[in-house]
Amino acid sequence: MHPVGILAVAAAIAAVPLAAQAEPAAAARQVSAAPVSLATWCKKLVVRLPEVNNTECENSGMSPTGARSLQGFPLLARHVAASPDAKRRPVRVLLMGGIHGDELTSSSIVFNWLQWLGGPLASQFEWRVLPVVNPDGLLARNATRVNANGVDLNRNFPTPDWEHDAPRYWQVRTHRDPRRFPGAAPLSEPESRWVNEEMLRFRPDVIISVHAPFGVLDFDGPSEPPHKFGRLLLDRVGVYPGSLGNYGGVHKNVPVITIELPNALRMPTRAEQWRIWVDMLVWMSRNVERRNDQMAYVVFPHGQDVVAPAPAVLSEQP
Ligand SMILES: [Zn+2]
Repeated sequence: MHPVGILAVAAAIAAVPLAAQAEPAAAARQVSAAPVSLATWCKKLVVRLPEVNNTECENSGMSPTGARSLQGFPLLARHVAASPDAKRRPVRVLLMGGIHGDELTSSSIVFNWLQWLGGPLASQFEWRVLPVVNPDGLLARNATRVNANGVDLNRNFPTPDWEHDAPRYWQVRTHRDPRRFPGAAPLSEPESRWVNEEMLRFRPDVIISVHAPFGVLDFDGPSEPPHKFGRLLLDRVGVYPGSLGNYGGVHKNVPVITIELPNALRMPTRAEQWRIWVDMLVWMSRNVERRNDQMAYVVFPHGQDVVAPAPAVLSEQP
């Protein structure tokens, strides 16, 4: 975006008070319209999620995608189109929380951000939001990082040479840490398959995945990395076989921002949640390019989605 555009957008968002984003009247209207099933699912989820109540969950606009977790919990998503006055196709943002079920705040903050999607800066983007990627881990008697199969979903993505690298990394580098088991095969789990299908369908220009508790930002992929969102500073923690950052950022060439909140159980202050959100939106406005990359998302006939050679058009992005 042109620098003047950035200033205008930043000024616009600064002019919108926090309270104005919630639109309580609209929220109240939606309560009665919430499908019974969403109310049932929310009842289960909110018990675990700090600072998310039933009303917020039922008003989140989430709906079932047809996919289910290993234990049958529906995998929920919300799709939000960009404001219609956009002249070019909007930048597509895939935002997800709770890929590790015991990082409770990573889902809660995504629910809170959902309430701010109507703001002037956020509405320039098209959003696909997956607040709870690993519901079985979240809802286990003691919430677990891994899914119901004991698989770390964030090591189960089909990075090249996964069959060699992921089991070896798990055995040698983690000493068979059960919290980091990559699974028997790439995309062996319904939850990681679902995320992969969401990527194939939505073709995001940028992916944001929220975790906890390391209190940093991590970044994989092209373009200039963000240096600071709220109090979180860039600290590139490394690339792992089968991780989403490695799969999306390194091999699919889509920028992947990993937000590590400072605590898995206790939420950042509302003001800090807002600062992270605004810094993220401003960074995306400046740095994320529209991708023309159908080639990079080809699904090969043997079922294994692999990275195709980057087409020439990729180097001619606006
Ligand atoms: Zn995590």
